[in-house]
This record gives sequence, structure tokens and C-alpha cells, in this order.
Amino acid sequence: RTVYVNGEYLPETEAKVSIFDRAFLMADGVYEVTSVLGGKLIDFEGHAVRLERSLGELDMKMPMSREALLEVHRELVRTNEITDGLIYLQVTRGAPGDRDFLFPDPETTEPTVVLFTQSKPGLANSPVAKTGIRVISIDDLRWGRRDIKTVQLLYPSMGKMMAQKAGADDAWMVMDGKVTEGTSNNAYIIKDGKIVTRELSTDILHGITRAAVLRFAREAQMEVEERSFTIEEAQQAEEAFITSASSFVMPVVQIDGTKIGDGKPGARTARLREIYLDESLKKAV
Ligand code: PLP
Repeated sequence: RTVYVNGEYLPETEAKVSIFDRAFLMADGVYEVTSVLGGKLIDFEGHAVRLERSLGELDMKMPMSREALLEVHRELVRTNEITDGLIYLQVTRGAPGDRDFLFPDPETTEPTVVLFTQSKPGLANSPVAKTGIRVISIDDLRWGRRDIKTVQLLYPSMGKMMAQKAGADDAWMVMDGKVTEGTSNNAYIIKDGKIVTRELSTDILHGITRAAVLRFAREAQMEVEERSFTIEEAQQAEEAFITSASSFVMPVVQIDGTKIGDGKPGARTARLREIYLDESLKKAV
């Protein structure tokens, strides 16, 4: 596999990053995951805009223009012959050559930019979309700026392990009695025919898939309510689902062992998945 590191395309075994890189020492970096379907990028624009925002919130700048970034994505898709899969992009504050809590001078320390691909044949036809996933609830113990897509993923990783140990697929995190989001996705329920998902704030990641799904839902005359909800309300909902760049729209059929509806993926969730995939593919670059 060919990867991109700081301006170079290299075999993955030859790619190197300094041990002083601030992402390695302090999780001082941000990332994006963009899906590839039929060799094209889904919502590249959305991911590029969020990347710029994440970097800005941490006093970092885009390492290259949006056009140049798109070209790197495309080159990796071509070289690695990706039909369906994901592109991972990470930008860190770089390697100042020593360990210090203070940010290094951006004039002398260049950011580290890494991109690699993951091939996932049949990504959009996952059989899981037909059966749905089971989630457990856990306390949300992450830091308070979840709107910045940083590489600090230890707690979400622990959450997925807790889910696996409990025989589930993922965890929904709960703060002050209300669901924030999934470990790597946004959380939704459908109640009284309305799509309910937590409002945007620093408490959740502003999902690129979330923005697209809500836009498509409104265009299809489905009602949307942006507000938080409890696990109990979710367990009594008509349907439940998650969204993310890698899972698109994925039904949730069980929460803490309680079946949602009849325990099968809901019809409106299935329709939203279809609309999302259709519309996003039309705009793919
Ligand atoms: N929430 C969290 C915590 C995430 O890590 C992710 C994706 O990685 C999402 C939500 C979904 O965001 P997106 O739709 O942009 O992939």
C-alpha cells in the first residue's frame, strides 16, 4: 500500500514520523475519515471544511489548499486502486525535537500530514445494515471539546471494548442523563415520526454525515427535532440509528438489552440510508 507522508508518496513500510511528534506524545493532532464509493470521495468538501475548523480551534492552519488536499486523496485512491473504502487523514502540530507542553513556534515546526487508504469492498452493502447493531450505554468521560476531531481516542476505544465484552456492537455515551453520541458516530431516535438527534454544541462531534442526513431528511419532508434524549426515551422509540462517514446510516435494534420496536431495523431508517447513499453518490468527487 502506498501512503502519503509530508509531501511524499511512499510504501507504507518506508513511511516514518518522529518520536517527538506531538500527536505521539500528547495527542496533539486532528483527523478526518472520508469514505470512497465507486472510486469517488463522499462529501470531501464537508470533511475539508471541518478539518480547517478543527485545526483553527487548536491554533493550527490547513497544511495545504483544499484543491491540493483533494489531489492527494485522489492520487491515493488511484495508486491503491480503491473502489470502496476509506481515506484516513491526520494533521499534527509536528515534531519540535523535544517534549514541551507549550505549542512550538509554527514558523520553525512544520505540521505532520499523513494519509492512508483502507480498502473495504462492498462498504455500502454491509449485511449489518439489514440486521442492525446493538448498543450499550456508558458514561461519557471524554474531555469537553468533542466538537474538535482530535486523535485522543482512548476513551472511545475503551467504550468499544466495553461494548464487545457486553456482547454488543457499540456504546452510546451519556452525560447528565442524556445521550451525547456513539463512540464514533452520531446517535438518533425516531419518535412520533420525527427524527430526534442531539443539538450541535461542544458536547458532540459535528458529524458530516449528520449534516447531510438531516438536510436530505428535511428535503424529503421528514420532521427533524434537534434535542437531547435519555436512554429510556430511546428504548421506547419507534426506531433508532447512528450515522458516520464509514457506516452511513446504520440501524440500532437494541439498547442495553431492550429491543427497539420489534427488534428489526426500522423502515424510515432504511429509507434514510437509501436517500443518503443515493444523494451522496450523485455529488461524489
Ligand atoms: N461522533 C464521533 C465521536 C465520531 O468519532 C464520529 C466519526 O468519526 C462521528 C460522530 C460521525 O462523524 P462523521 O459523520 O463526520 O463521520
